[in-house]
Amino acid sequence: MAANTTKLYNVSKNSVSTLTILINKKHGFLSRLYLRIESLGYSVVSHQIKPSMEEGLELIELNISGKLPLPEKLTQSIINIPECIEFVDNTGNIVGQDNHAEKSKKSRNNINSFAKQTAKEVASVYPNVAIVLDHACNNVEPSEKQPMLFQVGVFCGMVIHNDKYSLGLPMKLPQLVKHAILPTLKPIADVTYSDNQIHLTNNNCCSSNPSNSRCEFVLGLVRGLLQANKATKNKTVTKTACVSESGNVCTFVLA
Ligand SMILES: [Zn+2]
Repeated sequence: MAANTTKLYNVSKNSVSTLTILINKKHGFLSRLYLRIESLGYSVVSHQIKPSMEEGLELIELNISGKLPLPEKLTQSIINIPECIEFVDNTGNIVGQDNHAEKSKKSRNNINSFAKQTAKEVASVYPNVAIVLDHACNNVEPSEKQPMLFQVGVFCGMVIHNDKYSLGLPMKLPQLVKHAILPTLKPIADVTYSDNQIHLTNNNCCSSNPSNSRCEFVLGLVRGLLQANKATKNKTVTKTACVSESGNVCTFVLA
């Protein structure tokens, strides 16, 4: 929840007011915003979604009927949407701010560089990844934990590939599986492979308790190995079963 952030700017245009909202893309945000605005007697005339300069964010330009300044009650109602950071009036003055959301925006923007840095540490201690990964998980918002673990896995897989498997010609998928993917996974799980499916049991990165599972890291690891090898960089890997959901096997399908 806190991963999503919003910035609001508003400009007066006769009786139609334009609010420009900077938001981390989140399904359902617009309908919640509409509801809050309309429940306080304003109506939404139109909206337009525009790309933002900031990665992962977009701008929503919203035209609403009624004059500015908006009543305090509406300003507060908008600011209280979890994604909301600040509300700026047409003179550029910030009239409201949510510090929690501001903090999470920074963390979202930094997640890639954070994952990259973490991946270097993880690769240097691989396969003893638990402590570094747990430490990294404690440093991000709960909602960012799984995407961060996946991203760390991807970077870590690329580092491992470049260190150990990048000499010689690019490997076709069956060769990469045999010579790089399975040897990389074997220290952390019991691994079998058939029909493009990797089955992991006793996966020490996964757990039947979802909040303790680091399985996304393993998925990312396979993705990173595929991606770093020229002949397989467009291949995909999908998780179709996971101990964190049910059963005792984690299955990754290569395609
Ligand atoms: Zn799993």
